Amino acid sequence: MQLTNVLLAIALAPSLVSSLPADSSAKPLTSDPTAANATTSASSSSSALKACLQQYPFEQVYAASSNYATYSRPENENLSYKAFAIALPSSVAGASDVVKCVAAQQGTQKLAVRGGHHSYAAYDMGGGDGWTVLDLRKFNSISIDSNAKTATVGAGVRLGTLAQELAQAGYALPHGTCAYVGVSGHGLGGGYGFASRKWGFLMDHIVSMQIILPTTGEVVTASPTQNTDLFWGLRGGGQNNFGAVLSFTYALETAPTQIVDFSYGYRSNSDCVSALLALQDMVSTTSSSAGFPADLTAELLWITESAANGGPACTLGGQHIGATRSQHDAVFQRFRDAVKKHGGSDYDASQTTVKSHTTWANALADDLVMGGFDVSDPNSDHEPYYAKSLIQPEGTLYTKDTATSLMNLLNEYSTTDGTGNSISFAGFGPLSLTNNLTLSASAAYPHRDTLFLYQFYSYGTTTDKVRQRMAQLVDQAKSISSSAQWGGYVNYIDRQLQEWANAYYGSALTRLKSLKSKYDPNNIFDYAQGLAHA
Ligand SMILES: Cc1cc2nc3c(=O)[nH]c(=O)nc-3n(C[C@H](O)[C@H](O)[C@H](O)COP(=O)(O)OP(=O)(O)OC[C@H]3O[C@@H](n4cnc5c(N)ncnc54)[C@H](O)[C@@H]3O)c2cc1C
Repeated sequence: MQLTNVLLAIALAPSLVSSLPADSSAKPLTSDPTAANATTSASSSSSALKACLQQYPFEQVYAASSNYATYSRPENENLSYKAFAIALPSSVAGASDVVKCVAAQQGTQKLAVRGGHHSYAAYDMGGGDGWTVLDLRKFNSISIDSNAKTATVGAGVRLGTLAQELAQAGYALPHGTCAYVGVSGHGLGGGYGFASRKWGFLMDHIVSMQIILPTTGEVVTASPTQNTDLFWGLRGGGQNNFGAVLSFTYALETAPTQIVDFSYGYRSNSDCVSALLALQDMVSTTSSSAGFPADLTAELLWITESAANGGPACTLGGQHIGATRSQHDAVFQRFRDAVKKHGGSDYDASQTTVKSHTTWANALADDLVMGGFDVSDPNSDHEPYYAKSLIQPEGTLYTKDTATSLMNLLNEYSTTDGTGNSISFAGFGPLSLTNNLTLSASAAYPHRDTLFLYQFYSYGTTTDKVRQRMAQLVDQAKSISSSAQWGGYVNYIDRQLQEWANAYYGSALTRLKSLKSKYDPNNIFDYAQGLAHA
């Protein structure tokens, strides 16, 4: 569970959350292959697909199967979809056979790949009824090559397992903080975590992938020397668009031996406004001796006084890699000074935890970061939520007035209809490796000039009013500049977003669409916000 969710879950009364109606937005935006008015040809293609799949020995789950409810349950409890079939092959040949069976239906049947099953919009089930799900959980091997300093990782591996195995072997990668998130969707869409200013996104460490192509079921390598157009497109645009990635090979970092994990709490909304302005100062500078160096990644989470319930109104959480406690304290003093300069009070010591670690495993397993590596019960990690994202480019800045207006609106909306609503601001800026322009040329991910990556997160059952208010919060944030190139983060995918294709793919969109036409002309790998609909 994300730290955001932990804090909001504590602040919310469960009875308020559970008494609200289900998410009325949970409808497929594309045609539903098993809808009541489906044509005879669609139902005969369903029969043909099932007959094709049933030739093979891999595990298959259908509506009548006893474990169907378990495999067909989205991680986001606000959503509910019914898959046509869930195929769980354990071999490359088996996975290829699934693709070939669906492809043989010439686009009348749709396929969704499932990696770690943590899509916000349940796009690992297509985001609708009737999809065939290629569930890759049995592709769970991790093989470390110490000579090459790489790891080859199956597409069904979750971040907790990856983090633990790498740390035990003395290696590290940048990635998110939820142990149950899968390497697949995460890395194909980016993969941000508390090491990202130092090491970039998980995506930036991919050196090759094995992928099943949609039309032929052939397995090919995408790398800087083979199928280079796919290698470009998969990193930023690869979620269920060009085929099923079966494995990822990553270039590894050496695990650090001095790490400080931190969460600083602030009591009042006005202090949280000052903290946002201070974070802006720390990450917008090009001077690592004036602001936060790239070794330090920090995310400000606004909860607000009205939802704080005795806790902080906001926290600044993150990791400082390669720093001792005293080195961290010296760097963090810059932030404290900036908060003061912007009229805020110092952090509240009773709401603050700062811990030094000498192993990467302990630093990650800390409650301030991943809270452990256990992924043994995927069904324990479900919750109701709705989220929107925003990417603010460098050069677009808050003033005290504009930051205060956003805080006031969030304070008013923070418990709408019994939900708990927050805004997080992950600070990147010019020193951050996520903004490295060399990486920009080699991968489709377009947002290489990010100042803040936002998440507008609503914990609880989402009503129309909640959706409207979340959109208003985004508009309020964007009102600081009408000319800025605002973007969105595909890993925080939002099916309510209107201009989603430009927001998620920006300058890469045209090339990504032509890659989609080239590799998947029948749009077999499909979902409502897939490239075929862009
Ligand atoms: C609790 C929680 C915490 C999170 N924390 C973070 C965080 O700290 N940082 C961050 O950046 N993001 C975070 N995310 C967002 C997360 O990165 C995305 O939801 C990500 O896409 C999930 O990947 P997955 O493999 O688990 O999901 P899935 O639902 O399996 O897949 C997501 C999408 O990718 C496609 N896909 C999956 N596997 C493949 C494959 N092998 N080949 C081709 N397409 C594939 C799916 O079809 C789907 O469209 C979080 C999400 C949740 C729910």
